[in-house]
Amino acid sequence: MRLDSLFLENFRNYQSQKVDFHPVCNVIWGENAQGKTNLLEAMVCLSCGRSHRTRTDRELIRFGEGGFLLEGTVRTRDRAFISRIEAGAGRKKKISVNKVPAKSASELSGVLNTVFFSPEDLQLIREGAAARRRFMDASLCQLRPRYAAALAEYQRLHEHKTRLLRDCAERPDLMATLPDFNLRMAEAGAALIHYRSRFARLLGQYAAPAHLECSGGREALEITYTTVKTVTDPFGDHQTLVGQLLEHQRTHYSAEISSRQCLSGPHKDDLEVSLNGVSARSFASQGQTRTAALSMKLAAREIHREIIGEYPVLLLDDVLSELDPRRQEYVLNRLGSGQVFITCCEEDRLHSLLKGNVYRVSGGVVLPG
Ligand code: ATP
Ligand code: MG
Repeated sequence: MRLDSLFLENFRNYQSQKVDFHPVCNVIWGENAQGKTNLLEAMVCLSCGRSHRTRTDRELIRFGEGGFLLEGTVRTRDRAFISRIEAGAGRKKKISVNKVPAKSASELSGVLNTVFFSPEDLQLIREGAAARRRFMDASLCQLRPRYAAALAEYQRLHEHKTRLLRDCAERPDLMATLPDFNLRMAEAGAALIHYRSRFARLLGQYAAPAHLECSGGREALEITYTTVKTVTDPFGDHQTLVGQLLEHQRTHYSAEISSRQCLSGPHKDDLEVSLNGVSARSFASQGQTRTAALSMKLAAREIHREIIGEYPVLLLDDVLSELDPRRQEYVLNRLGSGQVFITCCEEDRLHSLLKGNVYRVSGGVVLPG
């Protein structure tokens, strides 16, 4: 799949910009704060309906304007698609594919998929579980519309239940609704566990050989999915998972009431990453952390290809310059048939390494070379 062109209007620091892209490689360079990341962010939005950097669309609107428009021409499954997002402050955003209004943002993921990699992701290994959950969620939401729906439902219920637990001391009548919340959370939670366990298994299968090769054959990477304690087998059937989640809720009932917090459910899930049998989070060196994070991102790209039959668009934001020449070469050799967008600050040797188009971004304007 590839993004052939992009139109941005009043998006971040772009006023009105149309860009045509190279089918394989696009290098985007420019000084700091000119709009390189914003351009990639627009592509992320077109692949999943929202930004990876913010949860509020309002921030995406150019200062002083009332709304933004993004339109991308995408080639996938041997067909051309036009994905479009129009958002205005206080209005529900309008999404369409080939001029047909979309029922949900997941229709965008049926057209364009992206894997975004930035220097912050190099911390995927070191940070808390939330970073790794975001990574799983971002991939799975694009690949599995049912996952996206279950996640949205789960998050809604989680927020609701948290409010309920907070208010129930003053309003004991609210407690009557708790069993219903718990059941619906267990149902949605079981769906999350179903998809995450399979994603984690595939991730390990693809990331391990990448990491082994990138570490010169020295390090074995393993990824283990961890979820709610009572779940004995995350690959188990739906009803068993629901039962085990309900069991966990029962044993945490009084703790939830006294702490006034939602303590039970897969919102604490994690991916444990180990190198040669020891926890990467606690023991990995800087270089090992980079290699492992890189391997996980490239693995996500392979999972997309396995599930949808085409490589997703790879967005490398400022990341190549953070890698040493050996890792750079490793990434560039793996691009294969996919399309890639690479941002960097200087017009450095990257350009000579890659065949494709070069763009310069300055003050929210994209210029050739
Ligand atoms: P760096 O090399 O430092 O990563 P960059 O080229 O990637 O820089 P971006 O993050 O794309 O920079 O753009 C940042 C600029 O966009 C900032 O100057 C910021 O003020 C501006 N900006 C962000 N949001 C908006 C907005 N809603 N309206 C107008 N300008 C915005
Ligand atoms: Mg940037």
